[in-house]
Amino acid sequence: MTEKPRNVCTCGSPKLMVYSCSGASNVGQLANDIAINIVESGRGSMGCLVGLGALVSTMVQNAKAANNILVIDGCAVKCGRKTLEHAGLTDFDNVVITDMGVKKTYDLKGDRGRVSDLTNKVIAKIAWVKPLTIRDGSTEEDPGCCGGKV
Ligand code: SF4
Repeated sequence: MTEKPRNVCTCGSPKLMVYSCSGASNVGQLANDIAINIVESGRGSMGCLVGLGALVSTMVQNAKAANNILVIDGCAVKCGRKTLEHAGLTDFDNVVITDMGVKKTYDLKGDRGRVSDLTNKVIAKIAWVKPLTIRDGSTEEDPGCCGGKV
């Protein structure tokens, strides 16, 4: 199978697909902020977790085409992980914010001062990341999560 550089999802760099649970808690929102930081650092692109959960076909196809996927969950319920598994994805890495010493609360703006430190910790965990590629057969015309607006 021939591989080629990923260039269809134009919302970020070609290295990694990142999904965040973005849950209704401090840690869920921290997960989202960390995902944004990773994208803004040029390490990858962010995918729509809810789109995967809804089994939107193009989003599932794009996720399955990715070489590397990181799922950031806020807490041990691991909704992000379960969502990817629901969509048929099994080959991904998963980090959980509460495993990094943050206590879950329902203050949506809580612990924002820790975003930078936590981002660095998550990035350290994904230092192995290789360039993300898509395989032949992927829907190159499909803009994926960002709708090709960027
Ligand atoms: S993993 Fe935890 S924080 Fe994230 S959506 Fe699920 S319950 Fe909420």
